[in-house]
Amino acid sequence: MRGGIVWLTGLSGAGKSTLATAVARELATRRPVELLDGDDIRTFLSAGLSFSRPDRDTNVQRIAYVARLLAKHGVLVFVAAISPYRETRDAVRALSEAAGHPFIEVYVNAPLETVVARDVKGLYKKAHAGEISSFTGVSDPYEPPLHPEVEVRTDMSSQADCVSRIVAIMAAHALVHGL
Ligand code: ADP
Repeated sequence: MRGGIVWLTGLSGAGKSTLATAVARELATRRPVELLDGDDIRTFLSAGLSFSRPDRDTNVQRIAYVARLLAKHGVLVFVAAISPYRETRDAVRALSEAAGHPFIEVYVNAPLETVVARDVKGLYKKAHAGEISSFTGVSDPYEPPLHPEVEVRTDMSSQADCVSRIVAIMAAHALVHGL
């Protein structure tokens, strides 16, 4: 089966890692899957990069490069990364599609109030206290996708519903069969 890239974008704490992990787990018995998680990538592949726009773009381009390499070998690649800039996401989509890999953009959407209330990693508290600068949604921009393949509202839908919608859109793009 051909590879593909499922790119989850959204604010920190929106649910990208949770959903990517859940969908990947559901599909892992059927075909090779890999998850490129923004936090791991910043530790291992992009250590030293800042959160300036050029460095964020470099980070996203590196992730997309690895995703394409994996997709070339039939892997279904999940990317969970804030990837805040529309132009950059569109650029990596174009590169993926030019290489023949389907690219499914998943907008993992929860309002700022929700992700601040969740504050999964305690980062919003630090950002509001001024201890972290250039924090997406607080002191740095987030540009939502205009035409994502699918948008899930994690403040309004259950995790199971969000997972089903992502799997359904993947099936519609022939990335999973027999569900
Ligand atoms: P991100 O990867 O976007 O930074 P995480 O997946 O690390 O976000 O955290 C999202 C948090 O939101 C988790 O604690 C998760 O349990 C919670 N959550 C609540 N509802 C949902 C939902 N419908 N989908 C995904 N996560 C949800």
